Amino acid sequence: MRRAHDSLKVEAFQECPNCGELKRPHHMCNACGHYNGREIVSVEG
Ligand SMILES: [Zn+2]
Repeated sequence: MRRAHDSLKVEAFQECPNCGELKRPHHMCNACGHYNGREIVSVEG
């Protein structure tokens, strides 16, 4: 059983620069819909 690929699964989180919520790096923020400094999804309210 080789386990060299296990390191690919990283459960790391990063603070959203827009709202400060924890989000997955390289993923859109679920809280405010921002990614890479731009609003991808409009969030009501
Ligand atoms: Zn956010």
